[in-house]
Amino acid sequence: MDTKQFRRELHRHPELSFEEHRTAAFISEQLDLLGIEHCPIAKTGVLARIEGRRGNLKRCVVLRADIDALPIVEKTGVEWASEVEGVMHGCGHDCHAAVLFGVLKRLKANPDFEGTLLAVFQPGEECNPGGAKYVLEEEPFKDYDVAAVIGEHVDADLEVGEIGFCPGKFMASTDELHFAIKGVGGHAAMRSRIKDAVVAMADFIMRLNTFNSDDCVVSIGRVIAEGATNVIPDKVTSQGTMRTFSEKLRARVKDMIANVAEEIEYKYDVEVEVDIRHGYPCVENNVQLTYEAMLLAESRGFKVRDLEMRPTAEDFGYYTQVYPSLFYRLGVGQASGRSHTAMFLPDEKALDVGEEFMYQLALSILNK
Ligand SMILES: [Zn+2]
Ligand SMILES: [Zn+2]
Repeated sequence: MDTKQFRRELHRHPELSFEEHRTAAFISEQLDLLGIEHCPIAKTGVLARIEGRRGNLKRCVVLRADIDALPIVEKTGVEWASEVEGVMHGCGHDCHAAVLFGVLKRLKANPDFEGTLLAVFQPGEECNPGGAKYVLEEEPFKDYDVAAVIGEHVDADLEVGEIGFCPGKFMASTDELHFAIKGVGGHAAMRSRIKDAVVAMADFIMRLNTFNSDDCVVSIGRVIAEGATNVIPDKVTSQGTMRTFSEKLRARVKDMIANVAEEIEYKYDVEVEVDIRHGYPCVENNVQLTYEAMLLAESRGFKVRDLEMRPTAEDFGYYTQVYPSLFYRLGVGQASGRSHTAMFLPDEKALDVGEEFMYQLALSILNK
């Protein structure tokens, strides 16, 4: 099976996060046909391994592709569109998995490299806490000296043939914010008898807003105060998201939120509940690895694009916190549409580009 057929097969049968049973079975079956050793990982993922003919087999490169789809009704109208009602590969993970499959196929056909190549077909990228966390909890690389963990994502802002890189901090950490302020409600005209949770929440949100900067986002998108024109409610709740570009700053902003909550409690004589639900850590690319990959890409005729930091998140961040890692973006062109929409359809010409680059990159790190 070639890379394009592999991609179309996955595209036709998308599965949501941690429900990738058919996907994992299909990947296993295809790896079996190639004689590539593999085992399950992180519930519905697959971990494959190819040993090189030379060198220290303890030294390894890990290639990672995510495999889950999204709850979207596909409207691309292609012949190989989703056959699963309400589920669609709308983020391009079918392409990531196909590229990885293509790379494995080539490395298996000629394992004339040093060390070991590990490949993770990772489930559950689209949901918290993310499949990457479960992969690492199983410690699949503990017997290895990991030279690099490599991942990619399709990107419609880059044209086919372009590959985008960002050395160092690249994508944000993400945490969900859930707040509740409990005061004493009552008649809106009788201010001396109430402890105003609405005003306290408004002040709290304004204070949080001052944390916003190039390195940090604190956005509140939902506020609920179920009072009336003349009723102040007992309780007001709010929800939002917090993003940062370093784990140090992430910890600091959490402390700052707790401090502001305390001040609000004191100032308004109310009770502030702070519930911060952990999401993905930051994606921090290894600087040296990134520059080496950029030089390699350039020398092999790929168009290299410099990327800005992105305030979106990706569970690849878990790997970057532990191992030297690189996450780059593979151009699929504007005509592919926007990801996470019913019309998103990455240009298949990008599969060859992705496969060639990932193959070259893996070899260059393994044989270093
Ligand atoms: Zn996505
Ligand atoms: Zn994605």
